[in-house]
Amino acid sequence: MKTLLTLCLLVSFLGQAQNFEGFHATMSLQDAKELKKDVPAQVEILKEYRNEAVVYMTEEASHLLHDRVLVHGPGYIFMPSLEAAIEAVEHPRNRARNSLLSFSITEDVAVDAAINVINTQNIENHILELEGYGTRYHTMASATQAAEDLKVKWEDMAASYSRTDVSVRLFNHSGTGMPSVIMTITGAEIPEEFVVVGGHLDSTSSQGNDDAPGADDDASGIATITEAVRALFETNFVPKRTIEVMAYAAEEIGLVGSNEIATQYDNNNVDVIAVGQFDMTNYNGSTNDVSLITDFTSGNLNLFMMNLMDHYNASGEHAITYATSLCNYGCSDHASWTGRGYWSTFPFEANFGQHNGSIHTAGDVYSLSGTAVHATKFAKLCAEFLIEIAKSEGSLGVPDVSVNTTLLVNVNQGVLQYDIQGSSQEFDALQVHDLQGKLVLNKGIETNQGQIALPEMSTGIYVVSLASAQQNSISQKVLVK
Ligand SMILES: [Zn+2]
Repeated sequence: MKTLLTLCLLVSFLGQAQNFEGFHATMSLQDAKELKKDVPAQVEILKEYRNEAVVYMTEEASHLLHDRVLVHGPGYIFMPSLEAAIEAVEHPRNRARNSLLSFSITEDVAVDAAINVINTQNIENHILELEGYGTRYHTMASATQAAEDLKVKWEDMAASYSRTDVSVRLFNHSGTGMPSVIMTITGAEIPEEFVVVGGHLDSTSSQGNDDAPGADDDASGIATITEAVRALFETNFVPKRTIEVMAYAAEEIGLVGSNEIATQYDNNNVDVIAVGQFDMTNYNGSTNDVSLITDFTSGNLNLFMMNLMDHYNASGEHAITYATSLCNYGCSDHASWTGRGYWSTFPFEANFGQHNGSIHTAGDVYSLSGTAVHATKFAKLCAEFLIEIAKSEGSLGVPDVSVNTTLLVNVNQGVLQYDIQGSSQEFDALQVHDLQGKLVLNKGIETNQGQIALPEMSTGIYVVSLASAQQNSISQKVLVK
């Protein structure tokens, strides 16, 4: 009720403030203030909430933000109304998903089979195919054509492997004429639980949106998730949980497609366990292969991604190295899911700032990289993510741990104390990673409560994770001083 009253007052107050044609959005407060300084007549900061702002701004101002303040992604999240914008900043969702439910590594057989058939040439072909539209800017007919064609491509792919558990649909939006594309692989045992991977199908260019090839941003991501799923089909992987593969519309103008989808899923209470975002996968700009984006993503899911790569990609032909990086406000579609309280993770092609510098120009073409080797690593990671979270039909079930389980950790004078409460499982391994994903400590434990002397460690935040014999894991960040 209080919110409603505030809202009414705000709406009446705001009625006078906007004397230009624009739209509502949320963005970082700092970006909003800088933008307001640059183009005061085109931006109204309507509400400040912690480090976020609700703004009303012109399309021109949004382009300015896109081009100047940020180097990837729109930097804001489009909101269909003032009410939606206020709701988003005032009531961030937290679904309090228990980290122990599904995040275990048990599917070695299925994963090994899948990552062995991931085909680099398929990824190259698909990137070139998407680049071939010339532009996939959301208002262009070719963008809608690309979505309709992708639907057929995915349907044909599923049909070629005789998958009767697969359907593909277009998701029509109110904020853009371009539809998103969603492939559903219905779970064989727990269809009401969803695992989502996605990337955006649209492209943009600051040099004119009729020439926006978007090869890396984000044809690479679409090609990556497509090849990951094809590998699942080729190896006859049948998921326990439902998998959805999404090609979002209109990411570049404020995450419009993903936000409408995540909002609908939230409103319908769809139980999405985890979301993986694949936006830009084919530019090898850093010494590490994968940069896990740690802002606006789930720490638990990021840790799980590190565990996946430690387990499957530590060395050999499938080796993947990783680090962490920060992106920015609304820098890609994962933020739409995070905003609705879902857990998301975003493995990015390079450390932020070292990524492909040609994106959002006519120069974002495949010939820049000339190989899809980098994206291939992301396709493997995507397959691992899907298989380990969706799990194989008929494989041994991972016992669910009580949703009341919590992990308390504390570091005092070089001693780590841990206490797992509310679980009947016995935990037998403890790991500490730094935020770059480097393993600092790996120790066996005998009780769910105890203490361990830490090695010499520099000051900072670390992730402590404990695993049980049943391979469930729980994690918690801790400050080491
Ligand atoms: Zn992108």
